[in-house]
Amino acid sequence: MATPSAKLKKYAQKRDFKKTPEPSARPRPPRRKPKPKLPMFVIQKHHATALHYDLRLEVDGVLKSWAVPKGPSTNPADKRLAVEVEDHPLDYADFEGVIPAGQYGGGTVIVWDHGTYRNIKTDKAGRPVEVSQALRNGSVEVWLEGKKLRGGYAIVRTRMTGPKNNWLLLKLKDEAADPKRDITADEPSSALSGRTIEEVALEGGDPRYVRLVPQALARLKSKTRA
Ligand code: MN
Repeated sequence: MATPSAKLKKYAQKRDFKKTPEPSARPRPPRRKPKPKLPMFVIQKHHATALHYDLRLEVDGVLKSWAVPKGPSTNPADKRLAVEVEDHPLDYADFEGVIPAGQYGGGTVIVWDHGTYRNIKTDKAGRPVEVSQALRNGSVEVWLEGKKLRGGYAIVRTRMTGPKNNWLLLKLKDEAADPKRDITADEPSSALSGRTIEEVALEGGDPRYVRLVPQALARLKSKTRA
């Protein structure tokens, strides 16, 4: 099995850590305290070229990652495209801020939800399947315990022709499912700091938002004059 630092090569190659505030891929000393029993998950709302949600699961010392353009749903009927991206370091889980324009993923990031997960994937005989094996099989099932999201989710590699990194994120049918909710619209703020992506963008100087403020004020003025 590849070590976390070998897995993070792609992550490091894409970024200039002198220019981005994102965590580096530097290996860190093992945690002194015993590891919490449950691995973590995080969903970061990321306004790069387009707005999307990055789903990350802690697996074998790194964060396995997917970019989900429409974000997660609580409706089991929804199939949300989830594009597999490079593994991220564990430290990325609490990154919130602005990646400078021109850098990889340039734009604003907030921690939209975070918590722990349990692996609930079993084989046909009902025996547990390890997450790393489930990833290779292209069929992951986890139970999330977040601030916003709860319950079972499946992440399934599509069998369609096309890029091999396309997966689907699906809500499983359980008591936490709710077809009527629009959870990304209802709960837009950071689960870590309570801030919206707009607030973090303005504080961090995301040029696109900073430019928008005078425009929005001007629009407001011209409306009140009319
Ligand atoms: Mn992203």
